[in-house]
Amino acid sequence: MKDPYEVLGVPRDATADEIKSAYRRLARTYHPDVNPNDPTAEEKFKEVGEAYAILSDPEKRARYDRFGTAEEQPVGPFFNGAGGIEDIFEMFFGTGFQTQNRRRGRDGEDLRADVTISLSEVVTGTQREVRVRRQSQCPECMGSGSEGGRPPETCAHCRGAGTISQIRQTFIGTVRTSTTCPKCGGAGQVITSPCRRCHGQGLVTENARVSVHIPAGIESGSTIHIPGQGSDGVGMGRPGDLYVVVLVEDDPRFERQGRNLLGYLNLSFPTACLGGEVTVEGLDGPVRLTIPPGTQAGTVLAIAGAGLPPLHGGRRGDLLVEVNVEVPRHLTEEQKRLVRQLDQALRGEAPPTEEEGFLAKLFRKKK
Ligand SMILES: [Zn+2]
Ligand SMILES: [Zn+2]
Repeated sequence: MKDPYEVLGVPRDATADEIKSAYRRLARTYHPDVNPNDPTAEEKFKEVGEAYAILSDPEKRARYDRFGTAEEQPVGPFFNGAGGIEDIFEMFFGTGFQTQNRRRGRDGEDLRADVTISLSEVVTGTQREVRVRRQSQCPECMGSGSEGGRPPETCAHCRGAGTISQIRQTFIGTVRTSTTCPKCGGAGQVITSPCRRCHGQGLVTENARVSVHIPAGIESGSTIHIPGQGSDGVGMGRPGDLYVVVLVEDDPRFERQGRNLLGYLNLSFPTACLGGEVTVEGLDGPVRLTIPPGTQAGTVLAIAGAGLPPLHGGRRGDLLVEVNVEVPRHLTEEQKRLVRQLDQALRGEAPPTEEEGFLAKLFRKKK
């Protein structure tokens, strides 16, 4: 459509009088009776008339200024620009009710399965089979629900449309709504002789095994999403998804701290004093740990790379070993004598007798 202002040759802020006089002048110029030999005149005359019809009507003129067309807008300014009635509906009423009709069917259910793995399996990642009880397409009728796979008949209620249309008045104006046909549930077709295996449902219950890859470094309680491995849909509906929740078994030897593992180690008094090499049981085999001489109780020693890998690859964490120094509880007379001898050597003087005791200073622990 041509710009009516351009056709009449008037500015956009032209007054009603200016528009009227421009129209009269042009109408006289292009009138077919005045120009019997000019074939374009009639076309021009029509254009001028249409332009005047818009600009002489304040309502149509306002609409043209706003929307670029004088056509009546079905439900107001929301329809300006792209999008259609579906977008507007999704805006006001949510997406749910349209989706079913469009796809002609029902989506399959999402399912959940739990799997428990050991802490060692977190190091390497693992493959597991989970059992799921799901609804799957009936093999007898290929999911059609109709005996022998016979094609279903067109629904008489909605004449195959799957939807029933209604004109409604709403706060945004007159709108046409579609609701799912109650007879056929939106399928547009009805089954006259239902399949005996699935009773016309198109779905049967089956116990399936689904292989799941569990990545290294996974945290306990994480969910693995496997699209399409839930229950099958009906008709054109999509299959649901499977969500596998992974639990990591507690390991009595280690406390998990993200990528690091923490374990406790009892050291003998002499080893703590003198230092030495010990072998500790790591998550994936024995690992050597060097004890520096004079190691105090509560010291945390790290074995680099003996922890867990991060989820998306990278360097493994550490195995942290917190040291406890064991004090012998029961000593023979000979052992007691040796300890007293050691005490004396360390002090450089004779230790106090049991009766005397000794004066010891208290201190506050640094925080
Ligand atoms: Zn129907
Ligand atoms: Zn069946």
